[in-house]
Amino acid sequence: MSRFISPKHAALTPYVPGEQPPGRSFIKLNTNESPFPPPRRIADAVQAEAGALNLYSDPESTALTQTIANFYGVRPGQVLMTNGSDEILNFAFLAFGDETHPFVFPDVTYSFYEVFCTLNQVPYETIPLREDFTIDYKDYCGSRKHIVIANPNAPSGLILPLSEIEEIVRTNPDNVVIIDEAYIDFGGESALSLLPKYENLLVTRTFSKSRSLAGARLGFGIAGEGLIGDLKTMKDSTNPYNVNRMTTAAGIAAIEENEFFMDKVRTICAVRDDTAAKLRSMGCLVTDSHTNFLFVEVPGLAGARLYELLREKGILVRHWNRPRIENRCRVTVGTKDEMTAFLKALEEIK
Ligand code: PMP
Repeated sequence: MSRFISPKHAALTPYVPGEQPPGRSFIKLNTNESPFPPPRRIADAVQAEAGALNLYSDPESTALTQTIANFYGVRPGQVLMTNGSDEILNFAFLAFGDETHPFVFPDVTYSFYEVFCTLNQVPYETIPLREDFTIDYKDYCGSRKHIVIANPNAPSGLILPLSEIEEIVRTNPDNVVIIDEAYIDFGGESALSLLPKYENLLVTRTFSKSRSLAGARLGFGIAGEGLIGDLKTMKDSTNPYNVNRMTTAAGIAAIEENEFFMDKVRTICAVRDDTAAKLRSMGCLVTDSHTNFLFVEVPGLAGARLYELLREKGILVRHWNRPRIENRCRVTVGTKDEMTAFLKALEEIK
């Protein structure tokens, strides 16, 4: 840290992304990417746009916003496109949080939420999950704080039913409730259907998981025009051209290729359920994942050790040295062959 950094950032510990080792030497099951590259059409769309890179991208992301609005059956004014869903989440903490408007979220969830709070000087409270990693929705009813919940949650992979999400949104009319649906295409019911009823609901989505575009950095938020207007003010005060031309082209083509991706989602879910069943028959503890990852404990083996032993065998998974989850590793669902290799490595380790 230099002597010039503002003291207001003294407490900031940045988010630690999963490793991205160069080359393809590892079976990479550590960052919840899709194991399936996007179809050729997307590369073609990106290439066609590359010739116009001398020009800024459209600050309104008009065509992409319209495409998303049509796809989800909402008005374009209800959509804001961002550089990954991390960006819309950051805008939300920036726009809605301050000293007198704190946030609340589960103690075990996407660890970026607490970084966004610290970065934006927003106080926050965490509520412990139950012992089995489930969320008790009643903990959030009438909380008088802004709320962010990943549904399905990460790294647990568990979902809350829509009726419980609605209770949280309904009982917090004077606070914003953000439902982070990064993994919703892999299971669970979306909160998008609640939008016409609640002006305090923001749903965030990403192209990084079910649509194989993690490297393009594309996400978005859908809410009422009021919340989206506030988030757009944050965007235009930070980086008006936040979605670049090539990513825009990739995003539009990805929606046009929806069936390709939904087919891959079905494959990933089938491989996930098959892998989970095999892990359970090997005596491992696995939560009931509704995502593209499994949250695994090998009894008698510390999570850090499991991570290391798998790494020695060329398999990268994710481990956090955090209370309550230190005995677990999060394992992204790869291809059938990758999961067979993972299970074989685990057999050898156990
Ligand atoms: N929310 C959750 C729960 C996530 O796991 C991730 C992926 N790290 C994100 C949001 C952000 O994803 P992206 O910025 O790639 O859209």
